[in-house]
Amino acid sequence: MATPATSPRHLAVIGGGLSGALVVVHLLRLAPAGTRITLIERNPPVGRGVAYGTECGDHLLNVPAARMSAFADDPQHFFRWVEERVGRPGYPTQVAPDDFLPRHIYGDYIAAVFVEARAKAPDTVRFDNVTGELVDIEERPEGNVRLTLADARTLDADRVVLALGLLPGEYPIRRSMPFFHGRRYVHVPWQSEVLEGIGKDQDVLIVGAGLTANDIIVQLDRLGHRGTVHALSRRGLRPRAHCPGIPPHAPFLKADALPATIREMLHLLRAEVRKGGDWRAVIDSVRPFSHALWQGFSWEERARFMRHARPFWDVHRHRIAPQVAEEIERLTIDGRVKFYAGRLQSLRETTSGAEAVFRRRGTADLVTLNVAKVINCTGPRTDYSKYQHPLYINLLARGLIDHDPLALGLHATSAGQVYRYRNGLSNWLYAIGAPLKGVLWESTAAPEIRVQARQLAERLLA
Ligand SMILES: Cc1cc2nc3c(=O)[nH]c(=O)nc-3n(C[C@H](O)[C@H](O)[C@H](O)COP(=O)(O)OP(=O)(O)OC[C@H]3O[C@@H](n4cnc5c(N)ncnc54)[C@H](O)[C@@H]3O)c2cc1C
Repeated sequence: MATPATSPRHLAVIGGGLSGALVVVHLLRLAPAGTRITLIERNPPVGRGVAYGTECGDHLLNVPAARMSAFADDPQHFFRWVEERVGRPGYPTQVAPDDFLPRHIYGDYIAAVFVEARAKAPDTVRFDNVTGELVDIEERPEGNVRLTLADARTLDADRVVLALGLLPGEYPIRRSMPFFHGRRYVHVPWQSEVLEGIGKDQDVLIVGAGLTANDIIVQLDRLGHRGTVHALSRRGLRPRAHCPGIPPHAPFLKADALPATIREMLHLLRAEVRKGGDWRAVIDSVRPFSHALWQGFSWEERARFMRHARPFWDVHRHRIAPQVAEEIERLTIDGRVKFYAGRLQSLRETTSGAEAVFRRRGTADLVTLNVAKVINCTGPRTDYSKYQHPLYINLLARGLIDHDPLALGLHATSAGQVYRYRNGLSNWLYAIGAPLKGVLWESTAAPEIRVQARQLAERLLA
């Protein structure tokens, strides 16, 4: 097992989305003289990642501007930054704290925060921004680790942070099919070329009806698409909309007496709404307790939540901007978007496109759709042991990572220190963001990530 040098001289952060960028920002502010920091990102520029790399102005943040600051101790930082830029091309002509702004603006903001941190960093701290894809990490007898990139470049580091974001989803039918390798199928919906090859009047099938499905629907509309968009999900549930102006609900949970079961938690939630609380504000009032709640649940309770409550929780908790909800509603009323509840049965290519057959939920009825493309928006996978990327395959094979007991993320502490496969805590490998979902549950949005980034930077330098 590698033992890092007593002072961590070289810190490598893998992934330059929001998480990786913010870890580096804090490291640059806090690192003592002589520290070396390397950020490795395969798709520059830094600060955007999949969420904020979009160029579509109709892809909006699903959190109001006033809650998207990069710094928990300066909550208005993002809002002020946008205020200073109102009226510029691509920016709104006015802005209010409750506004849901385009995500590309947030990408600009994180990139600017990153550039400023670099400019202010002392010369005694070395920073390297490497463009490349990490494919392997190997422990060395010298006590440090060797990182290998896809183009065979290597570098040695003392501590490593995995800031790799969400994994792509699973196949929408749980068996391999030739269809998944054809040009009529898009597996990763966050790529810029996702809508290529769809004629203006051709129909599309989106598998999934969540946040990413909404992104695709509004993007198609903006591009002048006039065909029908079919959106199929198991239960037909759709994310609810935010409702600005609702006053916050006073916390009804007590930190020293949190419910220990999902049943008890849901009972308390419903009772609070029945007392007259707006359900959105009631749900939001739970957020400060979410980590303690989740960690207070046994693994069996967490599994129960995943089986029974999760789909309902997700659509109420992860809400969309009101403008997006209105647009989807308009398109649905116009018949341009059709939502279905059901289970996909088969997919095959035809001479003119793709044929999808699904069974309507609760019935034996089979429905056939003929579309130009099928786009997988079933949401990210979380089982790191099944994702076929060389980095994860190598880390698993070397016993350097393990998935958590419910395969919701990496097996790690709430502070992001990663467990080896059945061999205790790693003393050099850390993770931030989505991989910590198993231990924290709420771990993918900016309000959580900014706190994790600061704490992790302090820990890495300790
Ligand atoms: C479409 C979408 C919209 C969202 N909207 C919001 C929102 O409005 N508000 C909010 O708070 N949260 C939102 N989120 C949640 C979002 O996950 C976080 O806010 C944030 O973007 C996560 O950042 P990250 O750095 O952890 O992951 P990512 O943004 O995914 O960044 C990971 C980075 O790692 C790089 N990478 C991965 N593997 C390698 C490798 N092997 N080698 C080198 N580089 C690698 C990737 O290229 C990527 O740039 C949204 C998420 C999505 C997907």
